[in-house]
Amino acid sequence: MPDTHGRFNPTDAAQQHPLISIQGRFDRGGSFLPTIFTHTVVGLASAGAIGKRSLPIRFWVFSVLCSIIPDADVIAFKFGISYGHFFGHRGFFHSLVFAGILGTFIAILFFRKHGNPVFYTLYFSILIGIHDVLDAFTSGGLGIALFSPFSPRRIFFPWRPIPAAPINPERFFTGRAWEILWAEFLWVWIPVLVIAVVLRVLLNRSRNKS
Ligand SMILES: [Zn+2]
Repeated sequence: MPDTHGRFNPTDAAQQHPLISIQGRFDRGGSFLPTIFTHTVVGLASAGAIGKRSLPIRFWVFSVLCSIIPDADVIAFKFGISYGHFFGHRGFFHSLVFAGILGTFIAILFFRKHGNPVFYTLYFSILIGIHDVLDAFTSGGLGIALFSPFSPRRIFFPWRPIPAAPINPERFFTGRAWEILWAEFLWVWIPVLVIAVVLRVLLNRSRNKS
């Protein structure tokens, strides 16, 4: 929650989100998703839409990794870093700047011999950024620090149709799993798969012409 100066205030956030601990602990019923399944679908659909057949298997592997990697920041809780901290979950590592930095590194380190480096930089950066944007459509936890380090604000979109999923897999599969997966299927999987198929068709046409 931003204070009167626009700064993020974890104390207010903790009061409004009882699952959040400002001491850096994280209630195991908390939320940080769309689920890993949905982020993975985005990665696979993107690779299928954009990738050429000649690309190595690691293109697919990195596509999936990039679609889920921002959530590796939950490890911050293990180190006592609070949710609202700059490096906390959904903080800097969920920002568009970090997406650009990591996407550039992956392109340079792993794909410099596979054609246009600008293409890979944009592709992987956008893929990581899509994760961050999708998170802003969820209905739980804190918002996303999309514009960190320039702004500490945690952002949610006004329309948030994706229910928050429990962080604990046990609770996920005994709780509202099907409700959550259905919402993700409806609001993420279907649009993403439709966009991927359209992109694939358009790209195939332009490649066949050239
Ligand atoms: Zn995330």
